[in-house]
Amino acid sequence: MSGLRNSACIINYGCQMNEYESRVVQRMLEGAGYEMTKDPDQAELVLLNTCTVRDNADQKIFNRLQNLLPQKRKFRQKKVGVLGCMVEAQKERLQREMPDIDFLLSPMELKGIANVLAEVTSRDFDSYEAYELKEYHQTRFQAFMPIQTGCNFNCSYCIVPSVKGREVNHSPDSIVAKIGKQVQSGVKEVTLLGQTINSYRWEGVRFADLLQRVSEEFPNTWIRFLTSHPVLFDERIIDVVASYQNLTPFFHIPAQSGSSKVLKSMKRGYTRESYLDLVGKMRAKVPGVALSTDMICGFPDESSEDFEESLSLMEEVRFETAFMFYYSERKDTPAAGKEQIPLDVRKERLARMIEHQMEIQKDVYSKKLGETVLALVETSGKQAGTVKCKMACGLPVFVPSEGLEEGDFVQVKLRSCTSHSFQGEVIHD
Ligand code: SAH
Ligand code: SF4
Repeated sequence: MSGLRNSACIINYGCQMNEYESRVVQRMLEGAGYEMTKDPDQAELVLLNTCTVRDNADQKIFNRLQNLLPQKRKFRQKKVGVLGCMVEAQKERLQREMPDIDFLLSPMELKGIANVLAEVTSRDFDSYEAYELKEYHQTRFQAFMPIQTGCNFNCSYCIVPSVKGREVNHSPDSIVAKIGKQVQSGVKEVTLLGQTINSYRWEGVRFADLLQRVSEEFPNTWIRFLTSHPVLFDERIIDVVASYQNLTPFFHIPAQSGSSKVLKSMKRGYTRESYLDLVGKMRAKVPGVALSTDMICGFPDESSEDFEESLSLMEEVRFETAFMFYYSERKDTPAAGKEQIPLDVRKERLARMIEHQMEIQKDVYSKKLGETVLALVETSGKQAGTVKCKMACGLPVFVPSEGLEEGDFVQVKLRSCTSHSFQGEVIHD
């Protein structure tokens, strides 16, 4: 039982924003004297930072709680708290089915977590905001940085706006100050986060202006950003990315579907043609750019012809990476009320799409062989004697580890590839 005392565990689900929040909360717990453990069974305090964007995330979290909560009977000091989007979407169900949970905090309540933790654990905690301003790297040299929370769109399948609320942007001065702190403490790569980051606006400052300012202030730091929405994409963003070396040549710009009909009923606000037009400009203006998408298979209105259009869009764009999902009904979203495509058909389409994309990736990657690219050393590779690096365009490359340290920038010549990654050799000047 003594193994449990003083130890805490955070289990994170979902997006990079959640990873960032979990990291801030971890720092708060460490500041209050907890030791972190990866094993929730060994922890006195367990926090789950949840996701509800698709049903399989919900299922995983319910299963995890079903295993964890009975432990509270044996270890009476054990506390279990649930944070994040599932709390907003399913508070009543959680309260009804799992009354042993010690506390629930929705994303909009997260800033008050210090008081709640103090009450539950009888310890003192500094505020969430205080830790946001301290160092909270993902790794020692990579940091996520939310610059926008919430979403003003209403895609008909999506639960995010109802769990995260309306779009709120942070001021450019506060963003620059936070990046400054990160850079001072050794961070080499900052990823700016927002649900529809290109809609960022602060008084007269648009996203392209912010990018320009940040890249000029931190010329030796890689700056990335996620997620761009294809609607009203200011082409100046492309020009700025093309003009600054430290703005990495990468756009995550989810298409969701290749059928204009489906896009309309998803309420995405663009067509297949306008999407292709936009990515064409990205490819033409930013040398070596990598494009990434999210795709949904089996949306209620998707006929087999519409699905083929998604495959053909992927063929046309030749995305370097893709996150592919089968459609999952989300409570109180417009699409959930429609006649649904059987689950096995959705899953079958997804399997076909993944296979299709893997073939595209293998081909796209093999065309890059022989190129020499700048890469950042991230972690040791699975194979002994190798390290995993991230190329400027975001793709992974493994190189021999000799003489390299995490956080080094290196020139790498790409030698071979699979459909997921590259192998390369370090080129010394
Ligand atoms: N703001 C981002 C996406 C946030 S959610 C954007 O607009 O692109 C991340 C991804 O989850 C989405 O891009 C979508 O592909 C997927 N997703 C969201 N709701 C879903 C649902 N109900 N079923 C399946 N996939 C979904
Ligand atoms: Fe969801 Fe659409 Fe907002 Fe993205 S833009 S978070 S998919 S509602």
